[in-house]
Parts: sequence; C-alpha cells; structure tokens
Amino acid sequence: MAGPSRTRTGFRRLAAVGSLAVGPRTVTAVSDPSSDRAAADRCPGLLRPFIADDGALVRLRLPGGRVTTSVLREVVRLAAEHGAPVVQLTSRGNLQLRALPDPLPSSFVEGVEATGLLPSASHERVRNVLAAPLARDLDGLVAEFDAALCADPGLARLPGRFLFALSDASGSVLAERWDVAYQRLTPTTGFLYAGEHRREVAPADAVAAMVDIARQFVQSAPVGAWNIRDLPDARITDLWRLRAVPTNESPRTEGREVAISRSGGPRSAPPLRPGVVGSDVVAGVPLGMLDADHVDALADAAASVVLTPWRSVVVRDGATHVGSLRAAGLVTEPDGAWARLSACVGAPSCRRTTVRTLDLARSASAAIGSDAGATTRDVHVVGCERRCGTGPSDTVLVAPPTVATVVEAMTHLQNATAEPADRGEP
Ligand code: SF4
Repeated sequence: MAGPSRTRTGFRRLAAVGSLAVGPRTVTAVSDPSSDRAAADRCPGLLRPFIADDGALVRLRLPGGRVTTSVLREVVRLAAEHGAPVVQLTSRGNLQLRALPDPLPSSFVEGVEATGLLPSASHERVRNVLAAPLARDLDGLVAEFDAALCADPGLARLPGRFLFALSDASGSVLAERWDVAYQRLTPTTGFLYAGEHRREVAPADAVAAMVDIARQFVQSAPVGAWNIRDLPDARITDLWRLRAVPTNESPRTEGREVAISRSGGPRSAPPLRPGVVGSDVVAGVPLGMLDADHVDALADAAASVVLTPWRSVVVRDGATHVGSLRAAGLVTEPDGAWARLSACVGAPSCRRTTVRTLDLARSASAAIGSDAGATTRDVHVVGCERRCGTGPSDTVLVAPPTVATVVEAMTHLQNATAEPADRGEP
C-alpha cells in the first residue's frame, strides 16, 4: 500500500499578522480562524489569508469539487514555489495552501487569479458548494448555482461557514452538514431542504429557490448566526415564508414546505470509498495532501477531476489508470491504513495543540503496513476538541497519547466518540 512517507509536509514556521495591498485589491490577514461562535467569521480565502504558526494559509473554493487537472497542476506549482509543496484537500472539497509568506507575494495572488479560481473577489469565501462527485449530470446545475450566487451582491454577506449541497437520487454528500440542499430525484422532480424543512421544487427552479433561501438568511439572521441550525425554529420557518419560492409552470413545483424529522430528511449515502466505480476511479489522497506526483498522474488519466469532501478525487473514466494512480501514491483500494486514516494538521502548524497528529498517523500507517484486512473502521486523529475535518463516518481520536492508540482504534472495536463537536473545514 502506498503511503505519504514520500509526501513532503515540511511546513515552514512563520509568524506575523497584518494587511497589505496586492494589485487593486486589499489582502487582509486574520490571526485565528476561531471556534468561538461569538467571534467574527474568519474563514480564510486568497484575499483574506489566515496566519497559522507555519505561515499564511489560503483556501480556494471549488464549487462541487469540479476542477481541471491543468488548474490543479498550476495550483500545486504555485504552492511549491511559495510555500509548502503540497495542497490540502478540505472537508468541503476545497483546496488549502499553507506555509506561504506573509504578506503574500503579488506574483502568488496574481498566479492564483490567473487559474480562474477566483471569479468573484466579493464572493470568494461564500462559494462553499458540495455536489455528488459521481453525478456528471449535476455539473451544469453546479455551474449555474455558482454563477447565481456570485451574481447576487447581497450574498457576499453570507457567513463563510454556510454550506450548500447538490445531490441526485443517490443522496451522495447529503450526510454532510449543509445549510441548504437540493436533491434532484428525476429530470423534473426534486426536493429543496433548509434546516428541518423541505419543499418540492423542480430542477428548473432549484437554483432560484436556493438563492432565495440564502438571501432570506442574510436578511433575517441575527448577528452571530453562521448556519441555519443556529436559528430558532420560528426563524427557519420565516425563511420559507418571507417570499414565495419561484416556480415554473409545473404543478410539481408548488409544494408547500413541510417540517421533517431527522428520519424524514433526505436519503443520504455514506462517503465514497477508494476504488473503481463503473468506469470511474475514486482515488484517495493520503492525509488529504496532494502533491505534484499525484497531480501528474491525475493529469495523465483525465482532463478534469472532482475533489470529494472525503480526501479523495474522482477520476472520470479513469478505471484503466488505476495502476499509474497507485504508483503515484494515491489510494485505489477501499481498505487499508490510508483508505481509513486521516488527521488534522496538528502541531507544529496549528497553535491549538502540541500533538503532532500527522506524525502519529504516519507511524500508525507504517505499523499497520500492507495488511488491508486489519483495518475495521475509519479513524480521524485531531489535536483538540475543535475536531477539524471530521467526516460523518469517522471515529475521532482527540490527542491520542500513542501510536498504539491509533492502531488499536483502527483495528479493534474500542470505545471512541464519533460525534464531531465543531467540524472546522480542514
Ligand atoms: S483540530 Fe487540529 S487543526 Fe483543528 S484547531 Fe485542533 S489542533 Fe488545530
């Protein structure tokens, strides 16, 4: 089993907080992404980097995870030129570059802008959109929704933590903690979800309906509310009532909103596991750290790929490239250490812990070796109770004391909590 021992993660240590002008825009650094719900929304972006202990950190949004391999290649090149030579995959299917200089060099900012990943400076941090990775027929809906989001000036005020999800009948990504979701069931039918309410909305009306809910949230949510789940029930009902959801001529779009129980929510699917799915390949990225060798292999296999929220990449029609993807260090089997083990960035990059989570994970993977059958559960190692990057199927180990603790959690059924406390994006 290939592992990330070959992955370079020597993040440099830098420390400074400030702001600077880059070209016509202002790049403002923030000091802490914060789990304090009363604090201002500090989700990072290219134009507002976060200053971690290893330097400036930039997050790039990829709605639906859809991206060309040529863009990925350029992003990894920029990362290697200016900071850590790996790009992190986040739990929202976004990209994160770290150990960058503070202030960011203008050549770096302009290089990222040239990739096309920043279509709207005002909306860069609100383009948080998950979409079922295997659903090719959602590509158009993703692009249409992203364009509509960026076209509404008021939606630039959405919190950076507000999450949209688009799925099909499979229910893929609907197990994530979205605020507004749309599930297309057939070419003419589907459901819109917000909080614990749903309404039948035709696919042709889905974009307008999702934008409308988001607009109502911006206009009516109290200060400090970052997600729909932060609102009292009466406010959530108001989201639907303040304005009628647009409809087309189909009577199917005129359904009223109904309250749903937890069991009455959208049917959701578990995270995709690495392996071949039809003509596609789900390629796991060890520790979610994509490097140049990975991207070269992806580019040899496909012109475009889909980043998932589960530290993996869907290579469309890549089934015949499994061998080369595996040789590049990607994971193409559903079991084994790197198919089931992940970690937050931990120390020394994150100031919230002294636990070197990545080292713990690497050592645990080495201890398990190539015995794929030994692993029985998905384990996510984190350095503190913020539990960044926790997935819905993860058993979470908070600051585990030893490598043996991690190995035991992966290979035996032991008591460990799987309930995320916060789930920051990385
Ligand atoms: S979970 Fe990990 S990355 Fe997140 S704040 Fe804690 S130590 Fe840092």
